[in-house]
Amino acid sequence: MKKEDLKLYHEIGTHATHLGEFWDKVLESALIVHGHLCGAMPLGFRAGRLALKALEADREPNMAKIALVETGTAHAAGCFADGVQLATGCTFGKNLIRKLEYGKWAVTIAIKKDGRAVRVRVKNEAIEAMFGGKFMDHRRRGVPPADVPKEFILESFKKTITRPDDEFLEASEVFTYTFPPAPKPSFNIDRCEICGEMVAENKLRVKEGKKVCLPCSEYMI
Ligand SMILES: [Zn+2]
Ligand SMILES: [Zn+2]
Repeated sequence: MKKEDLKLYHEIGTHATHLGEFWDKVLESALIVHGHLCGAMPLGFRAGRLALKALEADREPNMAKIALVETGTAHAAGCFADGVQLATGCTFGKNLIRKLEYGKWAVTIAIKKDGRAVRVRVKNEAIEAMFGGKFMDHRRRGVPPADVPKEFILESFKKTITRPDDEFLEASEVFTYTFPPAPKPSFNIDRCEICGEMVAENKLRVKEGKKVCLPCSEYMI
């Protein structure tokens, strides 16, 4: 990571102060973690933050809510999901984010204890503007995001961070989301009898009388 990028991310972070106390730090951290400027990450960031606001909920420190992101894996602007993760604290490692693979720029945040949920989508014009911009032209030609000259993305990134929610986002009414039954987490570990590596106990499989990890078992689940 370049020193001038860190300075730039700090400066861009200051544009998020209008979102609330400390949001400048959240945005700066999001940029450091995400690693580049782009069109979709800030859209996810604003969508995630609006969902929290609609639910009157804080950024997630524990495991009390989930994010269902409607982007997929084989299309542009998937960075939306990182913006959602970093704004909401519903992260991959905490297992609080799912991709629904619809290829749509929307997210539902749902609170586990009472099922209160809201879906926030990016309005069509904002998505069309992102896909019609010079940054996306470079991406279509195969230029990696961090190699696109910043002049083609910096202003639109800042605009996404500073514009009013209702100009480019639409939040649903708060509704009740029904969570599918969740398996109990395992706090026990064991050793795979083939590769010898540690495995969470509930991920061990038995193959030919041996307790083995999934890759060694060659089972899919
Ligand atoms: Zn990105
Ligand atoms: Zn193994």
